[in-house]
Amino acid sequence: MPTESTFLLAGLFLLLAAAGWALGRFGERDEHEAPAPLNIDYLKGLNFLLNEQTDQALEHFLEMVRVDDKTIETHFALGSLFRRRGEVDRAIRIHQNIIARPDLAPEQRDQALYSLARDFQKAGLLDRAEKLFGRLSQGSRYQVQALENLTRIYEQEKDWQKAIDAGQQLEVLGGRSLELEIAHYYCELAEAAAGAGDFAAARQYVKNAQNGRPRTMRGALVRAHIAQQTDDTKTALRLYHRIIDEHTYLIAEALPEIVSIYTSEEKIGELEKALKAMLRRNPDMGSLVAYTAIANDIGGIGVIDDCVRQYLLDEPTLAEFIDVQALTDGGDEALARVRRAMSRLAAATPRYQCRECGFSSQRLLWLCPSCRNWETQRPASRVQFDTVLQHSIT
Ligand SMILES: [Zn+2]
Repeated sequence: MPTESTFLLAGLFLLLAAAGWALGRFGERDEHEAPAPLNIDYLKGLNFLLNEQTDQALEHFLEMVRVDDKTIETHFALGSLFRRRGEVDRAIRIHQNIIARPDLAPEQRDQALYSLARDFQKAGLLDRAEKLFGRLSQGSRYQVQALENLTRIYEQEKDWQKAIDAGQQLEVLGGRSLELEIAHYYCELAEAAAGAGDFAAARQYVKNAQNGRPRTMRGALVRAHIAQQTDDTKTALRLYHRIIDEHTYLIAEALPEIVSIYTSEEKIGELEKALKAMLRRNPDMGSLVAYTAIANDIGGIGVIDDCVRQYLLDEPTLAEFIDVQALTDGGDEALARVRRAMSRLAAATPRYQCRECGFSSQRLLWLCPSCRNWETQRPASRVQFDTVLQHSIT
C-alpha cells in the first residue's frame, strides 16, 4: 500500500517537472547541456516511488533539489510533514541536508537546528535534542521555544536541578510564571534527598519549594514525611492536619499517616478527638474519611467506623449488593467484613484521575504522564466504586 509520504513525494516530483525545473535545473548538470524532453532524474524518482522505495525516492529528491533560497521552504515543509507523521528518520535526513548547505543564512540555520532538535526529541534521542536546544537557548529567535522544550526534556529525564535552571530562565525570557512547576521540581529534589537520608538537604529543598506563592501543598506533605521519618511526630501531625484543612483532596495521602502515628504512639483517644474536631470544622468530609478508610483498610477507630457505616448506608447502589440491615444490626464485625471486601474492590480500581485528560492511576502522580500537567490528579469519585461492583457481579 502506498503511504501518504509516497503520494507527497510523488506530488513533489510532479510539481518539479511541471514547473519546468526538470529541464536542466536540478543537480550538478551542465547549464549548456541540451535539455532532455523528459528528465531522467524525475523519472528515476517516480520509479522509486512506484516500487514503494520511499527512502530511495527521498534520497533522490535531496540529491536533485539543492537547498537554495527558492527551494528551502519546500525542504522545511517536507521535513515538518515527515515529523508530524512520525517518520522521524526522514525528517532528520531533510533537516541535516539543509544544515549541510555552506552559505545558509544565520536565521535559516537556527530554524534548521530547531527543527532537527525537535526531530531528535520526537525520536527519543533526548541527549542530542538537549544539546541543540541548549545551543539555541543561548541566544537565537528560538530561545523561548528551546527553553520550553529543554524544560520538558529535563522533566522527562528527572534532571530536576536543570529543570529549575531552565524554568527560571524561561520565566525571565518568556514572561510567564512557572511557580507551580518549579515548586514541584524542588519537591522532587527534596523527596530524593529524603530517600537518600539527607534530611538537611531535603528540608532546604522544601524551603525553596515554598518560596514565593506556591499553589501546591506538596511542600508541606514532603516536610511532614521528613518530620515523620525523623521522629518529629508533633510537627508531622500539625502539617498533616493543615494539609487536609487546606486541600481536602489530599486526605487520602494524609489521613493514613495521621492514623499510623497515633496508633504507633498508642494515643487512639487523641486521634478520635482530633478527627472529631476535623469533622466539626468540615462536616462534608465524612464521605472522604470513609473512602480513604475503605481504600486503605483502616478500621477499629470509632469516628472512622461511623463515617464508613454512614457512607455504606448512604450509597444507594450498594443496597443492591449487600445486606444493609445486617450492617446496622451486625455491629463492628459485620462492618469490618464489608469494609474489607470493599477495600479489595478499591484496590482493583484507580484511585486518582487527571482532571485534564482523564488518565487514572492507583497512586497519586504529581505529574500526569499523559498530558504532562502538574497536580491535575484528583481522587476518583465514588461512582467508580459502582462500576467495579457492577463488573464483579456480571
Ligand atoms: Zn493528564
